[in-house]
Amino acid sequence: MIDVGKLFLIIAFYLIVAGKDVYDIISERYDKRTKRSTLIVDAERFKTYDEVFDRQNLDNIFHLMKRGKIRTVECPISTGKEANVYKTNKVGGGFSAMKVFRTSTATFGSFLEYIDGDRRFQNIDRSRRGIIYTWARKEHLNLRTMFEKGVRVPEPEAIFRNVLVMEYIGYEGKPAPQLKFLDAEKEEWEEMWEIVVETVRKLFVECELVHADLSEYNILYDGAPVFIDVGQSVHIGHPNAKELLRRDLGVISTFFRKKGIEGAGDDAEILIKELASSVEDR
Ligand code: ATP
Ligand code: MN
Repeated sequence: MIDVGKLFLIIAFYLIVAGKDVYDIISERYDKRTKRSTLIVDAERFKTYDEVFDRQNLDNIFHLMKRGKIRTVECPISTGKEANVYKTNKVGGGFSAMKVFRTSTATFGSFLEYIDGDRRFQNIDRSRRGIIYTWARKEHLNLRTMFEKGVRVPEPEAIFRNVLVMEYIGYEGKPAPQLKFLDAEKEEWEEMWEIVVETVRKLFVECELVHADLSEYNILYDGAPVFIDVGQSVHIGHPNAKELLRRDLGVISTFFRKKGIEGAGDDAEILIKELASSVEDR
């Protein structure tokens, strides 16, 4: 267990030293007694705040607060290599999910493989920050395209620099679980597999996108499968699109086969052929 007293000291240090300006602006809106606890509601759960809540990120988050896209940050949902995800409170009530891309990520070099070859992103700023901001914008745009075409993904709500705000996907009062950690009956897996296959088809045919990192970790369950983590998704015209589609369907059909869907591998093969020939016909 983390020492709460010590944690508060560190938070106070950050707010006073690292994020002073932000703190000052925030105090315009939050009175002195509540501002710390209002900005960060559940401080004990912020084990990683010191990496993410640096001056720059606090500024970015505060910008989204001023635009009314976030009221307060509630608690962390996930801490990853490339991004941290938080549950936030909306201005009018309810929740959002805020994904903060790390500007220090070690893997950002590989982002360029997915950005180059994507006609939607040309002449981008190729500095480290520029690439990460583009990456976040790419996820936002992919979510928008998918959501508008009726694919089950979180609805994008706002983007500013490396901070993406989207619909919060919850299930039974908690953040929705990844398929990997879901307990379900065989018939439910069968139903989910059909939906996953249809979603991959719809992504390809209607959105002209390939997820490109599909797995049991990037599909949440809120009563039905919800695809997430679409920053790397590429246009079907991308030189690696077919290979990425094959990989996606390979990974996800292997997972469903382990869940007892024996035909998953064959279904995947059929879909790959169908979609690949549909682009050749164009
Ligand atoms: P990393 O690979 O560095 O761990 P990531 O790029 O994979 O991060 P995501 O997959 O988008 O990030 O999100 C990480 C986790 O955060 C998800 O597995 C999920 O548990 C949670 N999450 C992401 N988006 C949402 C959302 N909209 N609603 C609820 N939970 C979410
Ligand atoms: Mn992920």
